[in-house]
Formats: sequence, C-alpha cells, structure tokens
Amino acid sequence: MERLLEGFEHFRRTVFPEQRELFKKLATGQSPHTLFITCADSRVMPEMIFSVVPGDIFVYRNIGNIVPPYAQHVSGVVAAIEYAVKVLQVRHIVICGHSDCGAMKALQAPEKIAHMPSVAAWLKHADVARYVVAENCPDLQGNEVLKRLTEENVVGQLEHLRTLPAVAAAMANGSLSIHGWIYDIVHAELRMFDAAAGKFTPFDPTSRDVPEATPHARFAMAMTPTL
Ligand SMILES: [Zn+2]
Repeated sequence: MERLLEGFEHFRRTVFPEQRELFKKLATGQSPHTLFITCADSRVMPEMIFSVVPGDIFVYRNIGNIVPPYAQHVSGVVAAIEYAVKVLQVRHIVICGHSDCGAMKALQAPEKIAHMPSVAAWLKHADVARYVVAENCPDLQGNEVLKRLTEENVVGQLEHLRTLPAVAAAMANGSLSIHGWIYDIVHAELRMFDAAAGKFTPFDPTSRDVPEATPHARFAMAMTPTL
C-alpha cells in the first residue's frame, strides 16, 4: 500500500506539473476515440503498451476480456460498451487478449476453478473458444492449444460484441469499427485479427492498413445521435 501512495506522490509532484494543461482540458469532459476491452491481468497495461495519455482510450478490463452476448447477462462490461458507443461515440472498439492468460488456461482445465463458482460461471462466456478449438484443432499440443484458445476467445467475444444493438447499429453505418488483437507479453508483439483473411496476422508498423474485424457498412452514417 505504501508503494501505491508513494507512487501517487511521485505523480503529483513530477508528472502532473508537466501535463497541467492536459489535465485542465480533461477536467470537464472526455472524448476518447477507442473503447479498449482487455484482461484484468496485472501484466497488461494498455495505457503503457500503447503510449497513450489520459483521455485517449476508455478502458474496460475483466477476467478473460469477455463480452457476454446481448440479453443473456447484464454486466458492467455491456453497460460500459453501450455508454462508450452512445454517449462517448467512440470510433473503435478493441478486444485485446494476451499471452499466458490465466482465464484461457482455466478453459483448458475447468476442474481447477470448480471451487470458484463465480469465476466458473463468468468463464462460461468463453466456452465458445473451448468448443471451437476442441472440435476443429484436435491435433494441437501444449502451448499451441493455449495460443489458439486465446485467439478464438477474442474472435468469439467479437461475435458477442456484435450482438449488442448499439454496436450493431453503429457498425451498420460505418461510424464504428471493431478489432481483435492479442498482446504478447514477453516479446512485446501484437497480432491482429484480419476478418477478410480469417486469421491473426502480426502488426506491421510499416503498413498503414490495420486489419479489421468489421464487415463493410451497409448504410450511410445516420444523424449524430444525441443523448
Ligand atoms: Zn488474462
């Protein structure tokens, strides 16, 4: 606890004075461009990894970077998505999984979480990945299974995301795009789901084409919604 408070003191004395103007601007509002949904794992710090400043991204973290499908489960993450899309009008939603994810390991060994009924119930929303991998990739071994589960969980959560009416409506008029990424902790690498290719591809810093998990818009952008 002492380290946390020392950290705040460092922030207040050193970081804050250097960015006083930014905080003044942020005092009365926010306009983040991206909703970033990732795992609660302490090793995944989106603000650090993507070098962003306060106000840039609206972050929601939970175990396994999960988005329950619409109408099945009212949760904090679903409320946050609706708010981000309808009020903040974010232009992107990223669902970001990561290497060595404990939630994905639990999918491989559900008996290990049997004594945690809330965790077990939450991870049912990731069963989609377990089934896809078990039925389509029976020959994978060891770490390859974990890697594939992590990828398929991101794809499955992207599909859940599209069941939310606010998301579907914004995607249909092209005002919102969704992305599925995997962050590799030990190599500092990023892989991105390319819906057109149907696979994850490594982030290429020399290319301006960022793969999307978004189908093409079907409508011209509607009038700006007001709330
Ligand atoms: Zn995780």
